[in-house]
Amino acid sequence: MSEAAVPPGRTVYPRILLKLSGDTLGRPGETGISVASVELIALQIQNIVKTGAQLAIVIGGGNILRGRALAASPHINQATAHYMGMLATVMNGLALHDALESVGVPTRLQSAIRMEGVAEPFIRRRCVRHLQKGRVVILSGGTGSPFVTTDTAAALRAREIDASVLLKATRVDGIYSDDPEKNPHAVRYSEITYQDFLAQGLGVMDAQAVHHCKEHNLPIVVFNFKRPGNIERVIAGERIGTRVVSPAQLTESQPDVTTG
Ligand code: UDP
Repeated sequence: MSEAAVPPGRTVYPRILLKLSGDTLGRPGETGISVASVELIALQIQNIVKTGAQLAIVIGGGNILRGRALAASPHINQATAHYMGMLATVMNGLALHDALESVGVPTRLQSAIRMEGVAEPFIRRRCVRHLQKGRVVILSGGTGSPFVTTDTAAALRAREIDASVLLKATRVDGIYSDDPEKNPHAVRYSEITYQDFLAQGLGVMDAQAVHHCKEHNLPIVVFNFKRPGNIERVIAGERIGTRVVSPAQLTESQPDVTTG
């Protein structure tokens, strides 16, 4: 699909899978949900919907609990810890669902772990039907299975619903050669192939998720969701953050490295 720049308010992606890390719903360094952050995200999502793009969101839970945080406990089974992490994503999903509806965005919340009282079960066909009717679908509960992350869930769901792109929203500006919060000399890639990402063992995105996208040539864009206007620019096809693509999908002769 062409990613030529288009005017703001438009999208080059007909169907988007947006992976929202739990961190985007909280305050940096704090546990829990920040209502102000959730409201801000709802307004940004409203802008995506206005472009006419179909939008599914896989929501993370890291602002509340990640399974590996309990890895050292001799009293809580590892699988249980991961299920707790998945339940955290449902809490985030509930908050985002209400916030989106409060700004007039028709939304459905689905969960990979059945809990009919609060969310529909994830059913691929039903999800796609909602998207076709212009509803945003929040996909919570990850994959429903322990030991993986919501990045992997996002890659799998993107394939299932035939999304044109996987957008990974984080609090950093893209994929760096090293952790930019620890190494001031880290440089940001504007484009990188799946192969190079995996070979270099880079962070920000789960390698399993990148493997899934590589198998199906599904483009990934990693970008900073907290910068005002970024999401609109990304979906309009502007070069924001880092694109992870196949060698044939590179738009530059050599993968570009930029600072900042
Ligand atoms: N999780 C899981 N299976 C999944 C997705 C998530 O077990 O398919 C658990 C895992 O413990 C993970 C937690 O849920 O740490 C929260 O998800 P994640 O860490 O991906 O959230 P994010 O970092 O995106 O906020």
